Amino acid sequence: MKFYSTNNKALRVSFKDAVFNSLPADKGLYMPLEIPQLDPYFIKNIQQYSLQEIAFTIAQAFIEDDIPADVLRNIIADAINFDAPVKFLSSDTAVLELFHGPSYAFKDFGARFMSRVMAFFSGADDKLLDVLVATSGDTGGAVALGFLGVAGTRVTILYPKGKVSDIQELQLTTNGQNIRAIEIDGTFDDCQALVKRAFNDPELNEQLRLTSANSINIARLIPQTFYYFYAYAQLKAQGSDRVVFTVPSGNFGNIGAGLLAFKMGLPVEQFVAATNANDTVPRFIKSGKYEPKPSVQTLANAMDVGDPSNWVRIQDLFDYNLDNLKGMITTYTYTDKETRAAMEQLHHTYHYVACPHTAIAWLGSQAYRGEHPGSYGSVFLSTAHPCKFPDAISEQVFSKIKLPLGVEQLHNKDKVVEAFPVDYAVFKNYLITHK
Ligand SMILES: *Cc1c(COP(=O)(O)O)cnc(C)c1O
Repeated sequence: MKFYSTNNKALRVSFKDAVFNSLPADKGLYMPLEIPQLDPYFIKNIQQYSLQEIAFTIAQAFIEDDIPADVLRNIIADAINFDAPVKFLSSDTAVLELFHGPSYAFKDFGARFMSRVMAFFSGADDKLLDVLVATSGDTGGAVALGFLGVAGTRVTILYPKGKVSDIQELQLTTNGQNIRAIEIDGTFDDCQALVKRAFNDPELNEQLRLTSANSINIARLIPQTFYYFYAYAQLKAQGSDRVVFTVPSGNFGNIGAGLLAFKMGLPVEQFVAATNANDTVPRFIKSGKYEPKPSVQTLANAMDVGDPSNWVRIQDLFDYNLDNLKGMITTYTYTDKETRAAMEQLHHTYHYVACPHTAIAWLGSQAYRGEHPGSYGSVFLSTAHPCKFPDAISEQVFSKIKLPLGVEQLHNKDKVVEAFPVDYAVFKNYLITHK
């Protein structure tokens, strides 16, 4: 499969190049030249397959020319080694839990798959692959744990001091092995600027083989389609084959993968994008005008994105046709107050403790059902384990959370972190002197 750029439909690059470049020089995003159509017979019988079997079938449809089948099968067995269960809260509303991977967030799907794909492609070269990543929280943990112990790779994570939760910080700083953490005395934007400057520094690129683990990487998008098919398989096993997915959205990568799955033949009735106050896409759907604005801070901070970078992919999937888009995507926006109330209500009504992102998705699914009564399965996506967001959840509800074993163990590990000011020379010197 070849890939083009959303800014240049005539461009053709290999999967390998798309993975290592992350984004084309023209600043568009890579898209598959053709959207593979899954065999209708496979979809009709999908409830017979495991998550790993489904994942392999989909991945092969994109990259069978690029990675040998037996290697791809191993990559998937190794990367997607945790479940994505659909759990029913009531007869017609279910939650798709995507937080059973090592960082307890859905980003594990993308990061774990991408790390192994990168390791495979760089296997022939003997130069270490240096991944630089700036994080405001969840991405860093998924990337760190995704690359942990993957041969031939090393990850350097920059995060803003005091601006990530305790568990997130432990996930970034207690790994050892091939993972290094740097705390920057600044903001997430400062971290991102330092990383960007490193990528554009010729001297550094001569000495190190740098790559980004950016969320717009095509190797992160493809594995996120897996769980949409798998959720549908689980519903089908229960006798239902009509589904509406509600996705808590920030950078619109998750829902973009859902829409890609739909274009591959997954029968989905509607997608609902639920956002926090960062409502650039909901405003666009209403007005047809794309007007990004600076991000505002909310309880659901992994969705605090004012200019969602994956949106152009979705536009491209729908040929930039607003009416077609509206036919498939409904949007809702929620305040922090509504998010808090939803977390309380989920706990009160269903004894379900949700993270703020998940609570926003639940609100969206309820709003859509209110406006479209009918007998379809309403599935909202749970993108993170609630234990990662202690400050956003009331103490009373938080006390009900059963901490995963891995989280308890984090507290016993040694924290190793460098602390730097916002100073490119200091960062660069560290990279050069710590090869
Ligand atoms: C990243 C993230 C989101 C947003 O996903 P996008 O793909 O950026 O729309 C939602 N919830 C959690 C917990 C996340 O980490």
